[in-house]
Amino acid sequence: MTLGSFRLLLLGAPGAGKGTITRKLRDVVPSLNSISSGDLLRREIQAETKLGSIASKYIDKGRLIPDELIISLVSNHISTLSQKGMGAQWLLDGFPRTLHQATALHDILEPRNQCLTHVVELVVPEEAILGRIETRYVHVPSGRVYNLSYNPPKVPGRDDVTGEPLEKRSDDNEETVKRRLKAYNEMAQPLRDFYGSRGLLHTASGDTSDIIFPKVLEALKK
Ligand code: ATP
Ligand code: MG
Repeated sequence: MTLGSFRLLLLGAPGAGKGTITRKLRDVVPSLNSISSGDLLRREIQAETKLGSIASKYIDKGRLIPDELIISLVSNHISTLSQKGMGAQWLLDGFPRTLHQATALHDILEPRNQCLTHVVELVVPEEAILGRIETRYVHVPSGRVYNLSYNPPKVPGRDDVTGEPLEKRSDDNEETVKRRLKAYNEMAQPLRDFYGSRGLLHTASGDTSDIIFPKVLEALKK
């Protein structure tokens, strides 16, 4: 199957499967560039940078980190990537998450002629999300996500590709997830309106990523 060029934003609640959909898309588009704001932040925390130590205080409470911090982190990352060439297909996951971030991103992309072409919101029932998040593990350097019930690593506790240890995210516990879900639901509507009014917004819903993925591919063909 061939996909044309796209610049995609994945929206979706915590645990909706943005990381898993990214992995499935990479199987179809090996040259896919992806930027996950959460992965960038977790790498800062692991590297014990100043930004990492500020960010972890917000992340552990399930709160959004201040717009200015995340905007500069992601825009630096976009600049670095675009010097090497962003490629014809790339996606963002977890950024933008507020209207202010969305307008800031627009101001970064427009002068490069790289505005988003598609925004797809992954919609998963909240019961399914709460059920899967407690059994989720992540390989921090790559952002690869595993789930002990339906997508376990080949060797328990180890990343399939590097063999390095997996970690449980400090914010993947029921209390923090509920706060993250609430934060998501509060910011989602302004973003839907922003991208909907530009004709970019699509929805892909279902209980599992296997059901959702074909719908994402359909959206990318529109
Ligand atoms: P998932 O669980 O599917 O990864 P999530 O959206 O809850 O989704 P991340 O995207 O990994 O998780 O983000 C983790 C935390 O990092 C957020 O709860 C927030 O504190 C911080 N964060 C990530 N992206 C942003 C952003 N764009 N703006 C503000 N804070 C952010
Ligand atoms: Mg994620």
